[in-house]
Amino acid sequence: MKRVKLHDKEFEIAIRHDQIQTAIGVVAQKIREDMKNEYIPVFLSVLNGSFMFTSDLLKQMDFNCEVSFVKLASYSGVTSTGKVQELLGLSTDIRGRTVIIVEDIVDTGHTLVDLVAVLKKHQPKQIKVATFLLKPDAYDKDIPIDYAGMKIPNDFIVGYGLDYDQLGRNLRNIYKIVN
Ligand code: 5GP
Ligand code: MG
Repeated sequence: MKRVKLHDKEFEIAIRHDQIQTAIGVVAQKIREDMKNEYIPVFLSVLNGSFMFTSDLLKQMDFNCEVSFVKLASYSGVTSTGKVQELLGLSTDIRGRTVIIVEDIVDTGHTLVDLVAVLKKHQPKQIKVATFLLKPDAYDKDIPIDYAGMKIPNDFIVGYGLDYDQLGRNLRNIYKIVN
């Protein structure tokens, strides 16, 4: 599909599914190299948006690892509310362990800063950040982004897990808003 309509807005294709998979392959290889001597890292997938990236990334991990899911939202509609809600569902004991945050997208980095602050209270050995998409022009925080699948401009995008008011998460390609 070249174009999709979600609620009141039109979106056009920006990144095809095969380009997504190629980018994930590169990130996966870096993670495999970095993690080969780590004892059972925990991938912490930030719901809802990162479910597709988490699934595709984890299938490429060839070492013993765990996956856990948390929820933390800052977006309403197409603009950031700048207000990050509480962390829901950290059910894994991460003390002394290597944690890899798995994000769909890092935009301003508000969410990431809050998430890292909460996680640090649980005293992990180290925290790494893997995001499928990064908006470098919007990101102005100090936390290093260890693994980024693709860097994109500041457009609002949907698909491959990302939504516009809950629609579009199922799309296999990524679409950007048509202005
Ligand atoms: P940040 O806190 O970095 O500004 O934003 C992080 C969250 O905002 C992401 O995890 C994602 O849920 C949402 N977000 C940021 N940019 C976009 C975008 O272009 N499209 C969609 N659908 N969500 C976005
Ligand atoms: Mg997210």
